[in-house]
Amino acid sequence: MVLRNNLSTTAVNRTRARRPTDRKPLVAIVGGGITGLAAAHRLVELEPSIQVKLLEAGPRLGGVLDSVTQDGFLLECGADNFITSSPEIIDLCRRIGFEDQLARTNPSLRQAFVVNKGKLCKIPQGFVVMAPSKIWPMITTPILSPLGKLRLAWEYFVRTKTEKTEESLAEFSKRRFGREVYEHLIQPLVGSIYATDPDQLSLKATLPQFIEIEREHGSLVRGALRQHPRQPAQNGANSGAPYSLFVAPRGGMSTFVEAISVELPEGTIQLNSPVEHITKSSSNGWYLSLGGDQRRSLKVDAVIVATPATYAAEMLSSVDHEMILQLRTISYSSSAIVSLGYLREQIAHPLDGLGFVVPSVECRKILSGTFSSIKYPGRAPEGHVLIRVFVGGPNLSDICSLSDKKLCTIATDELRQLLAIHGQPTTHHISRHATGMPQYRLRHGDVVKKIESRTANLAGLELAGNSYHGVGIPNCIQSGEQAAERVLVELGVSTTKAANRQLTG
Ligand SMILES: Cc1cc2nc3c(=O)[nH]c(=O)nc-3n(C[C@H](O)[C@H](O)[C@H](O)COP(=O)(O)OP(=O)(O)OC[C@H]3O[C@@H](n4cnc5c(N)ncnc54)[C@H](O)[C@@H]3O)c2cc1C
Repeated sequence: MVLRNNLSTTAVNRTRARRPTDRKPLVAIVGGGITGLAAAHRLVELEPSIQVKLLEAGPRLGGVLDSVTQDGFLLECGADNFITSSPEIIDLCRRIGFEDQLARTNPSLRQAFVVNKGKLCKIPQGFVVMAPSKIWPMITTPILSPLGKLRLAWEYFVRTKTEKTEESLAEFSKRRFGREVYEHLIQPLVGSIYATDPDQLSLKATLPQFIEIEREHGSLVRGALRQHPRQPAQNGANSGAPYSLFVAPRGGMSTFVEAISVELPEGTIQLNSPVEHITKSSSNGWYLSLGGDQRRSLKVDAVIVATPATYAAEMLSSVDHEMILQLRTISYSSSAIVSLGYLREQIAHPLDGLGFVVPSVECRKILSGTFSSIKYPGRAPEGHVLIRVFVGGPNLSDICSLSDKKLCTIATDELRQLLAIHGQPTTHHISRHATGMPQYRLRHGDVVKKIESRTANLAGLELAGNSYHGVGIPNCIQSGEQAAERVLVELGVSTTKAANRQLTG
């Protein structure tokens, strides 16, 4: 049982003092991605009498979550699954009656590959991002040289860092495991998630659990072995637990978006409603200037800005100079996804895994490939295979400006070589994400603290989304729900229910 922990007694006391009159408070949420949806759902779930307006700039909800059906294939244009290790996501699915719509990864093939000297090699069983929990697969893997393996074993004896300076993900992993393990395993695994170079990423902000393991066990190998002692293969599968923790909506991510949105009262959602400016009212509350066809102003009691920080900075440009400066320091990596459908017989590779990642040292133009129709059911028609390719890497810049033709050629050429494919795909689809993935650079934690210390002084304004405390879908849900709960406390409504609510999971 997990208790929400972000509702301070001070906040409750302060806001009760200025509790509004009998008028129903109006709360606006800017951005109809998963963060905004989770915030809207939480507000009406806890306080059905409250008025909520969810303002989305585009013609559809979901933001990065978007599925399309094409030639019998079910394609994901953005995120394609989520991890169930944190309670928020399963809890939300349960509350909206969506739990039975989740499919787990194929239990018979829970393993993945890494490209090594132009070939797909199995990632050693039990190797999770940067923690090897099994010894034998590390000894026998062809991915590492004998020297690389010795250096990996030496990790057991590498001293814990005592200086307080912040390390990048790359610095940390090279210090603990050496360059070879970093270049051939850690960099591709991390790079395929964040679509950027781990040299640029703050370990503390992206994967803080590894700092904890080092602190607690003195070694990641020791920590992993203690946490997963002789973990049995699951259902005879070759790989470890992480894949079993991933799920995807059977009907695609858009069905999840739809399931949340139908829970919202009629009139809550306003599509094609870009918010251009947000300004503070001289009395309590905020003014929102809507652009697009609407060109009008909306006065609200509170506003949750659930867009990438870069857009939040534009909207709030006249509100707080220091906050805007900090919001603008958060940068984003762009990526493009090329989904390709083939007849099974066109592909010589056995496809006996869930996909592959590509190290930068292989000098290719793609970051990873997912065997989508092997990973989850219902993604391709009978006799076909769906493969999703993340285009990017050290040899490509400004990916989003490449033409569809160019992106498709890059993806098909790379797959042809890696999977021994003959002929052209039977279908293809391309999606681009210019601000899809925020980059948590060194000192990201300090930046977020400064932003939050400024918003703490702006009653009725909340920032939420993937720019602050985690990029995964569960992080976004948590961020949106917590912002909603803070708003209810601020408005002096439903404080007891919000503060006392416990997750059911
Ligand atoms: C390619 C890709 C693949 C990913 N894969 C996974 C995955 O498999 N699993 C996982 O857990 N996570 C994944 N992620 C991360 C995760 O999907 C995102 O972090 C998350 O979906 C972001 O949700 P959000 O609501 O915060 O932002 P967004 O989805 O970006 O939504 C923000 C919304 O705000 C709207 N908006 C912007 N400006 C305005 C304005 N001025 N007025 C009104 N509306 C505005 C936008 O139109 C958009 O709809 C992936 C991310 C990317 C980019």
